Order: sequence, then structure tokens, then C-alpha cells
Amino acid sequence: MKEGIHPQYHRTTIKCACGAEIETSSTKENIHVEICSNCHPFFTGKQKLVDTGGRVDRFKKKFNIQD
Ligand SMILES: [Zn+2]
Repeated sequence: MKEGIHPQYHRTTIKCACGAEIETSSTKENIHVEICSNCHPFFTGKQKLVDTGGRVDRFKKKFNIQD
């Protein structure tokens, strides 16, 4: 029998390589990422948008993150 048909979402903390910690909802725990809303140019606006389209969405899909 395979479980997880109804994944349980819970509060988890995503730790980014930049040191930032983001609290979010996910089916996974102890997530480590290399980029986050703190250091991603898309969010910081410090850099012109390069070809980052879809990157965050894929990131969210990967970790089953709910907004
Ligand atoms: Zn970061």
C-alpha cells in the first residue's frame, strides 16, 4: 500500500543558501534551497530581470509549496 494520496501540509522552514529562512506550507520538511525571495533578483529588484521565468514556479512545484 502506498500512502500519501492525501499529503499533509504543515508549517516548514525553507533554508536558503544566503542564510534566509522562509516559513511556508509544504508537504516536506527541512527544505534547503539555493535561491529564495530574499536573494532572487525577481524579488529584490536589484537586478534587471534575466531569464528567470518559471524558476520560482518550478521551485514551488518541486516542494509542493502553497501560497
Ligand atoms: Zn536566499
